[in-house]
Amino acid sequence: MFVMNEEKLKNYAKLIVNSGGNVQKGQLVIVGCDVENARFGRMVAESAYDAGASEVVMEWGCEFSARSRYLRGADEIFDTFAKWRVDKFKDQNDRGAVYLHIISANPNLLAGVDPDRIRRFSIASRTALKDHMEIMMSNGLRWCGSAAPSPEWAKLVFPDLSEDEAMEKLWDYILKGARADGADPIADWKEHKAGFAGRLDYLNKKQFKSLRITTGIGTDLTVGLATNHVWVGGGGTAKDGLDFFPNMPTEEVFTMPDKHRANGRVVASMPLSYQGSLIEGIDITFKDGRAVEHSATKGAEALGNIMNMDEGAKRLGEVALVSSSSPIAKMKTLFYNTLFDENASSHLALGKAYPKNAKDTDKMSAEEKEKIGMNDSLIHVDFMFGTEDMTVTGISENGEEIVFFENGEFVY
Ligand code: ZN
Ligand code: ZN
Repeated sequence: MFVMNEEKLKNYAKLIVNSGGNVQKGQLVIVGCDVENARFGRMVAESAYDAGASEVVMEWGCEFSARSRYLRGADEIFDTFAKWRVDKFKDQNDRGAVYLHIISANPNLLAGVDPDRIRRFSIASRTALKDHMEIMMSNGLRWCGSAAPSPEWAKLVFPDLSEDEAMEKLWDYILKGARADGADPIADWKEHKAGFAGRLDYLNKKQFKSLRITTGIGTDLTVGLATNHVWVGGGGTAKDGLDFFPNMPTEEVFTMPDKHRANGRVVASMPLSYQGSLIEGIDITFKDGRAVEHSATKGAEALGNIMNMDEGAKRLGEVALVSSSSPIAKMKTLFYNTLFDENASSHLALGKAYPKNAKDTDKMSAEEKEKIGMNDSLIHVDFMFGTEDMTVTGISENGEEIVFFENGEFVY
């Protein structure tokens, strides 16, 4: 069995705790980790105590048991989500918890599971956890999603290697992609964060009315941006004023599309791994913000399940730009994992918009949110459309057009 270098892992764990979740003295920390990565999960817990956590609660997951539940559980359990689970989140949130999720999901986990069970349980859990999701998406608390490989995941990404070699290579790619492989990753992330400032400043000052996005594989989409939209990238600031990185890695700058103004066609440039299904060849046509046609060459049923979740699932909640020179893009590897794949390529999200992506959304009524074009849904699913030949033209209020992204790079 491949055993990863102890010091490298400790540095990565420290990065997740200190830069990612920005754990403070006296805080409750929830660590979500699969049992396959117990060694690394324990290192994250130790790092959290080192950072001053008052208590670290481990949320051990087990993918194989999760799969058995879907395959062998009684049918009625997929329409309910236990109240004590909802209460547990509420209690943790009231205590100002920091959430650290270590993802090692096998993208094929749910292959062969009845898609209707997945869809029903997804509705039940997301409905029950709507308040919790709202807190996370509006930076009410600090949280950080990061990754650690599992043998199944590693073998899928590198099918020609032995399991040990695949594990070693995926660890290597994860640490590189997360800028966690240097001598001082915490300092590297400070510098990385500073690099976002120029892009954000340019885009936020321009306040483009809409973006026209074109690629050589067929995307030609004009997407309106929400009134007073805010471009965000390089981490966030939580309600208590402390910075954190919700995602490690993160290479994107993203903002809020106007849910009423997307017109044209978008063709995905990478497969989407969603809840254990792989969806390939996504092709969606929008009219006045709503998806009016959609198809996929593989996993069409899973795509249908996403888009039929609710009305908001047919509209956009995020537009994100990623340059082709990001370390993950340069690896030219499909990770079958949104955390990595979305940082390799520009993407759109179907579903819920991030409140932080427009000004003063926390003071807005539902009517006002509707007016600026802020989308709401039980889901938020990113899919990648960016290519090395992608062009983005910003169209301003007075109709002026500026090409600020060309051949996969920012060119303003
Ligand atoms: Zn994104
Ligand atoms: Zn997203």
